[in-house]
Formats: sequence, structure tokens, C-alpha cells
Amino acid sequence: MRRSIIAGNWKMFKTCAETRAFFDALIPEIQNVEHCDIVVAPPFTALSTAVDETEGTRVAVSAQNVHSEKEGAFTGEVSVRMLTEVGCTYTIIGHSERRQYFGETDESVEKKTLASVGGGLNAIVCVGEILSERDSGQAIEVVRRQVRIGLGRLTESALSHIIVAYEPVWAIGTGRTATPEIAAEMHAEIRKIFAEIYNPAAAYALRILYGGSVKPDNISALMKKEDIDGALVGGASLDPASFVRIIKYS
Ligand code: PEP
Repeated sequence: MRRSIIAGNWKMFKTCAETRAFFDALIPEIQNVEHCDIVVAPPFTALSTAVDETEGTRVAVSAQNVHSEKEGAFTGEVSVRMLTEVGCTYTIIGHSERRQYFGETDESVEKKTLASVGGGLNAIVCVGEILSERDSGQAIEVVRRQVRIGLGRLTESALSHIIVAYEPVWAIGTGRTATPEIAAEMHAEIRKIFAEIYNPAAAYALRILYGGSVKPDNISALMKKEDIDGALVGGASLDPASFVRIIKYS
């Protein structure tokens, strides 16, 4: 049985003070939550604050991005070791906003993923098609390519630290959620690709999150689908009350 994950991606929101206020409100509400793993991804500047605020709780802290090199002349970048040192246990990789605005490619996703799992982080690797690709019937082909190049050369032990987030780009921040059926179809396809590249057991064990306008009122329908193992939540993870309602989906 795969354990569900509810992960919040704060993007470029929240200062350290706002991070403290968020966890002051969140933590008392999730004391008894045992049915899922909870992950929060603040911006780099608030990671340390988030780690302090969540110490001794069930919340894990994630980065939103990482560089693939160990260290070097890469102005503005942060390494895996820097993240693990502050207490991060996860990083998001290849978010569509990174692909769209910062030139990330399937090849850079592969490098970052290998560096992350090699350095002890769990990697939430994002894949997903843009609207024109869905409308022209290429969605599966695009996601197949993203998975094969980005995640096609992992070792067996690395695989257990990979979480895939299927995020159709047309559903991110738009209020337009993929129907549970559309999401479930792609999740099943991603599992099939993993079975082809690796083996059926590894594919079965893989946790696949859905992301794209997840809200308190649509999480339950999504989570009912067999291949949907959780959610990567953007906007609705910024407000502790709505994030709690998503965590406590029924
Ligand atoms: C995201 O940032 O990964 C995301 C899915 O955003 P939103 O939930 O706001 O669509």
C-alpha cells in the first residue's frame, strides 16, 4: 500500500515571519493526522525557519529547486548539501514554472534528480503537458518523454526516493483542475512507463501526486482514484486553514 503525500509549494511567497505564523496556525491542527505524509516547500530564505518550526512534528520541509553540482561558481544557486545541512529532506525538481521561466529541460531535471537522491534528498519531480499539447492529443507522448529522459536512468535504491508530480500546466494556478478521470489516466500511464523502464514492483511502489488547482473541495474526488497518491498544492497551501482541509481530505 502506498502512503499518501500532501505537499505544499509556496513558490515566491512568505517571509520568515509569515512562515512562523503559518506553522503556528498549522501544527496544532495536524497533531493527530496519521494517514498521509505532509511536506511544505517554502522559498530558500525561509527553509531554516520552517525546519525549526516543524521540529518534532510530522511535517517535512522541501526546497523548490536545487543545483546539480556539488559546489562552484554558480551565482544564485543552492546545492544539495546546503539543503540537507539546514534540515531539508525533500526538493521539488522541474516544476513547470522552472521549465517555463528558467530554461529547465528534461536533461537538467535528470542531473538534478541524480544529484538530489545521491545526496540524501527525496525528489518530487514534476512532469506535465501544456494546453496546446493536450489539445493536439500529445499529452501522453510529452509526459512519456519527460519521464524517460528525466527519470529513466535511476538505480533501484534511488527509485525509492522519487515521487512524481503530474501537473498539467494548463491547470496550475488557473482554477481549472484536471478532472479526476484525466488525472487518473495520466497517473496510470506514468506507472506503465515506470514498469517498462524498471519493473512492475517499482512502478507499483512509486508515489504519483496530482498538482493543478487542488483545493479543499476537489481533493477528495481526486484521492479516490487508485493511482493518485497525493497532491502537490500551490495557491491553496498558503493559507493554513485551506491546507489543513486538504490534508484532512476524506
Ligand atoms: C503548483 O505550484 O505546483 C501548483 C499546482 O499550483 P496551484 O495549486 O496553485 O495550481
